[in-house]
Amino acid sequence: MFKPYLVNFDTRQLPAETYEYVIIGGGIAGLYTACKVAREGGQVLVLTKHTLEDTSTDKAQVGIAAALGQSDSPELHFKDTIFAGAGLCDSKAVEILVNEGVNRVKELIEWGAQFDYYEGELALTREGAHSQRRILHAAGDATGAEIQRALAYQANQIPSLKIYENYFVVDLLVADDICYGVLACDNVNQCFKVFYGRVVILATGGTGQVYEHNTNPEIATGDGIAMAYRAGAEVMDLEFIQFHPTVLCLPGAPFFLISEAVRGEGARLRNCYGEQFMPRYHQLAELAPRDIVVQSTLKEMVRTGSKNVFLDLSPLPAEVIQQRFPNITRTCATYGLDITKDPIPVAPAAHYMMGGVKTNLHGETNIKGLYACGEVACQGVHGANRLASNSLLDGLVFGFRIVKQSMRFLTSYVPSSVEFVCNYLKPPKEIKINGLTHELRAVMNKCAGPVRSCQGLTGALSFFENQADLFLSEAKNIAEMELRNMLLVGQLICEAALMRTESRGAHYREDYPAASERWVKHIILRL
Ligand SMILES: Cc1cc2nc3c(=O)[nH]c(=O)nc-3n(C[C@H](O)[C@H](O)[C@H](O)COP(=O)(O)OP(=O)(O)OC[C@H]3O[C@@H](n4cnc5c(N)ncnc54)[C@H](O)[C@@H]3O)c2cc1C
Repeated sequence: MFKPYLVNFDTRQLPAETYEYVIIGGGIAGLYTACKVAREGGQVLVLTKHTLEDTSTDKAQVGIAAALGQSDSPELHFKDTIFAGAGLCDSKAVEILVNEGVNRVKELIEWGAQFDYYEGELALTREGAHSQRRILHAAGDATGAEIQRALAYQANQIPSLKIYENYFVVDLLVADDICYGVLACDNVNQCFKVFYGRVVILATGGTGQVYEHNTNPEIATGDGIAMAYRAGAEVMDLEFIQFHPTVLCLPGAPFFLISEAVRGEGARLRNCYGEQFMPRYHQLAELAPRDIVVQSTLKEMVRTGSKNVFLDLSPLPAEVIQQRFPNITRTCATYGLDITKDPIPVAPAAHYMMGGVKTNLHGETNIKGLYACGEVACQGVHGANRLASNSLLDGLVFGFRIVKQSMRFLTSYVPSSVEFVCNYLKPPKEIKINGLTHELRAVMNKCAGPVRSCQGLTGALSFFENQADLFLSEAKNIAEMELRNMLLVGQLICEAALMRTESRGAHYREDYPAASERWVKHIILRL
């Protein structure tokens, strides 16, 4: 049984600050929501565990989807999202995403985000499972960095919005299913502080770091899911991890994403014999939904006994490659690849968490005063497999809805004063953080990767059970807190994946290879 906190503390002994809104996370979901609230007059504090630009948002390459093209419509965007979601999307949430998304993206442009234009019109690209060109991009393949820049600029203009960087949120302060604030640790001075908020918004991003092979930045250790679960929040769909099919696979190179827009513009996937294999697996070939491209790639790797496949950009003119994908061109060149000539060795890696802290369509969790948006949240909009470039959009759309809902909540809610104490944890244990982190990631890669089985998942769960004692003692430092969060999230992913005895979307069980009608439902876990 997990203890609900990571460290001993007593809020009466700690310095504290009070705000109307405490927002954990400064990516697209947290920063957009913060700007929106503060523009409405709310007093807001944003906490980020590293620097402000250290986010998945900043790394996003391809772009943000919205039905803005001449031949496009929210109805078509809806159909594509539902198709990719493999029977598990919440159709109301998708309707909201595709309809409200158009205005949210226009608002982002009004706020100064500079997307690419072609002949005076917004330039739109295409990715897997999109029936239309509908993805706005910036600086070719550096869309996220431009959005992060524009939002940070906005945030800095608003006096009632404060940002504290390098504050690691350890735990939520929840009593009787009401959230009162957060316990945080100053990453620089290593001291604790309490931030009370009448509204607390989780916007902590994803969980990719629980896998050895992943595309995510270091901050993506699943802290939001772990702290919410410890506090009694419901978490949903955690078995659905999206693996990205084309991640650079070169000894000594990082797991750098080669964006799907490269295939959208005409690149081909080839096996080690140079054969284009995707048409054998799906009528949409390279532009099939991500889960299908991943499974086909893995089959091809096994069939040919190869550790990777290749992405061949030769159908694209060299100047198009350099202009549309400057970031990918530059990064690959660092590792000796001229992508206008050389095929890029690629393999699948963990990329995106479809599940998360369960919310309704207004971002409310089952804990009063606690909201969630962005990758940490799950209202079912992505189902079992996210449609590419829908996640940046999701952060804006559901962040916006939290603003409206929480302002209503604030008018009717008077908080009481509550003290929080945890004094039952034993002194810190000596553990080898790097060694255990490595072990965890290897277990997740092997047992909870793109191909799963009862045997593998059961083995993974016994690994987690063996670590249970750790949670009886205090965490020594932030690195250990992150490791504990990853252990908890890894365990929850494996529990949900073992329960779902079918294959659907990104969740593939080799012992249950077909989808089952019985499983058109969500797995919700709660402490
Ligand atoms: C390489 C890559 C490419 C991608 N490309 C695309 C794309 O083209 N289009 C698309 O739609 N999506 C893309 N995605 C996915 C998308 O970028 C993310 O889903 C999205 O940016 C998540 O935004 P967010 O605001 O929820 O979280 P993030 O942007 O990850 O921000 C998380 C924030 O939470 C903070 N935080 C986390 N834990 C704590 C803690 N304990 N205490 C304090 N602060 C904390 C972090 O410091 C950070 O500020 C990509 C992802 C990656 C990794």
